Amino acid sequence: TKSVFKFGGGTAEGDAKQKELLGGKGANLAEMAGIGLPVPPGLTIATHVCAAYYDAGGKLPDEVARDVLEALAFVEGVTGKHFGDASNPLLVSVRSGARVSMPGMMDTVLNLGLNDVTVEGLATASGNERFAWDSYRRFIQMYGDVVLGLDHYLFEDALEIAKEDKGVTQDTGLDAGDLKALVGRYKAIVEQALGWPFPQDPHEQLWGAIGAVFGSWRSDRARTYRRLNDIPESWGTAVNVQAMVFGNLGDTSATGVAFTRDPSTGEKAWYGEYLINAQGEDVVAGIRTPQYLTKAAREKAGAKAASMEEAMGQVFTELGRVFDLLEGHYRDMQDIEFTVEDGRLWMLQTRSGKRTAKAALKIAVDMVAEGLISEAEAVLRVEAAALDQLLHPTLDPKAPRDVIARGLPASPGAASGAVVFDSDTAEQKARAGEAVILVRTETSPEDIHGMHAARGILTARGGMTSHAAVVARGMGRPCVSGAGSISIDMATRAMSCGGRRIVEGERITLDGATGDVMLGEVATVEPDLSGDFGALMVWADKHRRLKVRTNAETPADCRVARQFGAEGIGLCRTEHMFFEPSRITAVRRMILAEDTAGRAAALAELLPEQRADFAEIFRVMAGLPVTIRLLDPPLHEFLPHDDAGFAEVAAATGLAESLVRRRIGELHEFNPMLGHRGCRLGITYPEIYAMQARAIFEAAVLVAQETGEAVVPEVMVPLVATPRELEITKAVIDAEAATVFAETGTTLEYLVGTMIELPRAALRAAEIADHAQFFSFGTNDLTQTTLGISRDDAARFLGPYVEQGIYPKDPFVSIDEDGVGELVSLAAERGRGVKLGLKLGICGEHGGDPASIAFCERLELDYVSCSPYRVPIARLAAAQAAL
Ligand code: ADP
Ligand code: MG
Ligand code: MG
Repeated sequence: TKSVFKFGGGTAEGDAKQKELLGGKGANLAEMAGIGLPVPPGLTIATHVCAAYYDAGGKLPDEVARDVLEALAFVEGVTGKHFGDASNPLLVSVRSGARVSMPGMMDTVLNLGLNDVTVEGLATASGNERFAWDSYRRFIQMYGDVVLGLDHYLFEDALEIAKEDKGVTQDTGLDAGDLKALVGRYKAIVEQALGWPFPQDPHEQLWGAIGAVFGSWRSDRARTYRRLNDIPESWGTAVNVQAMVFGNLGDTSATGVAFTRDPSTGEKAWYGEYLINAQGEDVVAGIRTPQYLTKAAREKAGAKAASMEEAMGQVFTELGRVFDLLEGHYRDMQDIEFTVEDGRLWMLQTRSGKRTAKAALKIAVDMVAEGLISEAEAVLRVEAAALDQLLHPTLDPKAPRDVIARGLPASPGAASGAVVFDSDTAEQKARAGEAVILVRTETSPEDIHGMHAARGILTARGGMTSHAAVVARGMGRPCVSGAGSISIDMATRAMSCGGRRIVEGERITLDGATGDVMLGEVATVEPDLSGDFGALMVWADKHRRLKVRTNAETPADCRVARQFGAEGIGLCRTEHMFFEPSRITAVRRMILAEDTAGRAAALAELLPEQRADFAEIFRVMAGLPVTIRLLDPPLHEFLPHDDAGFAEVAAATGLAESLVRRRIGELHEFNPMLGHRGCRLGITYPEIYAMQARAIFEAAVLVAQETGEAVVPEVMVPLVATPRELEITKAVIDAEAATVFAETGTTLEYLVGTMIELPRAALRAAEIADHAQFFSFGTNDLTQTTLGISRDDAARFLGPYVEQGIYPKDPFVSIDEDGVGELVSLAAERGRGVKLGLKLGICGEHGGDPASIAFCERLELDYVSCSPYRVPIARLAAAQAAL
């Protein structure tokens, strides 16, 4: 197999498609050389040589070394210079280059090939003695650091001393003589540290640098980076050896970096920096303050130093031509390195530039308008998950921050408000129009109303999948969880963090994107959902097959979801409605009732409330499908757990406290997740499901009469494991429907279906489908029950599990395709096998995860359902999955 690939002089043996073989840098250098751009000639040693190097015990295989020398002769031919030549030496750079850019790999060595003899030759050939010695001292410094492993401070200290002795502050203040003396010092440093002199043989230098690149692939830094970024060890790195061009030849020379568009805003304007009389890394290393590329950018920044446009007009124009050419060729925004050697432009690197979500969106939409890419390509250009950054108000980056604590960035967005320490207070203050931040040690289902009322949620404990985090993400509320330095004192209604005390009512700001907690109010900026965002969404909708619904239970959430383009409700959790303060007492009376009559009386009180809820939702959804799940959680979730709570409930319900205590004791469960919940409630207390079904049908009839539009409720039974469970509960629902239709004289179409959230249900999907008109995969519970992992207790071990590759990703975030996914696939197949056109959807957290959405597309489900704020992400991800 071919191991060494040449490029330059108007030709190339590789191209941009060969990143696996040549690494990203090498492939793009070849591509640029191939399309006739000015690229210094060079050679790329292929990535597969990396493994061969290790197999040979840290040595370049002989035949590869031979090919390198042959390619080097080609470079000599193109440049007319010779490697190691005393009068006209060829100098090269040795550059690493993996498939993807990898900080943590070896740094580049520039000016390789210089020694005590060739430096004189370079001085004569260039007519610039200072430049020659400056290059030599840079080379010793880089080679010493990168290849010989010497501490770079040794060299930097010597350089500082030289400048001090001379009384100058800039490197450019040193003349040829000073630099020559510095080279002497550098060589002494090397010899002292190593016990042998700096290598003078250019070939020895070359093999040393190539070996160092391959060697760096297995450095600790590189290994860590690979682990964090899922890059396999087997990829290996390529090595590029390239003829040097010099930006440090004087005032007609320069080096720079540029983006063809602004990477933070996406604006179509050249964006970059350059430095006159400088080399390679100088621009990014901050040795001197870089100058702007364009006059406009310089003026905007109020900078004095001439822009490249002003200082080197002709080369700048040429650079602009190259930018346009590269964008036209790659059809994407490019991140570029260039050098100007004595008025002549050379390209040293190009790649697709990293960009913010905002820039990605703007660039994709602009490029469609410019005719560079198609609408479908634009849809594929914007990372779906990154849209999240654009959907929430964000903190004004220019505003000052007084950070008082840090936690996990659990739910994106920013919020400011007055600190409150319990959910009832949160709700009262919010109702009075005040913006509040709910601060809790941790949250529980009883906090739902407070979380909903709050602008943001802060917890002292809990991880990224804690109750607070999951619920906050679902509601689109910013959340910082697990801010460990916070401790709350409920007695004095204050919290302390890092020695500071904040009392209830004081204002704080949360940054859900970073986990910062700040004192006071930090200004925010609202997201813009029209313009580019709207355009991209229209294109996404054209290409997607999957429908996107939302998980929502309040009219407010439904409105948000519709604004984001939801095509229905996939999951309306009725229990959230029970927590409303106006109803919780009736709910508790129903639960605490000791007989059916008592329960029925309490349920009768709840009926009008539920009916009103559903009617409002049907109105907002205006004929779109609405899936309503009947009561699911164990009843004790609606009850208090402490003495104060018992007394309160007793007072509110008018029951004896002793009875309250006893009933709550009876309702206790060892493992509520697997306990008396879901359809098991509907089987044991059919009157609960009957009341809910009645509320649904009465509301549907009401709204249908009101609007004249069809309302098609989809009634969903949770936690079914066997066909008989569904058969029994469906009979209750159908009976209520019949009664309501008879009473109102109106008949409506409706569906009854079930969640598939237990492995047994997935396995017996064929028989269950006999009684179901739709399945909705409840992949949260299905993941818990298939993996035997409780989501709320997983934080302790899931991290290490993912790190050790036991699960590739957090299975609660991205569906476990091999396990849970197989059950979903099997249930879909078996269900459709008996009932053609059985409607299939997914309503777990996974419904908003792009990877899981792609999986749903492969299974040809009908829809995904996710929290309102994830609807646009799901729309885009569904389109990408279909393309
Ligand atoms: P990195 O991947 O860290 O950017 P590079 O290999 O791209 O490393 O090189 C570092 C710097 O050296 C860049 O500014 C690059 O433009 C410059 N450089 C690399 N090779 C040459 C060369 N042959 N001539 C001039 N400058 C070079
Ligand atoms: Mg680079
Ligand atoms: Mg469930």
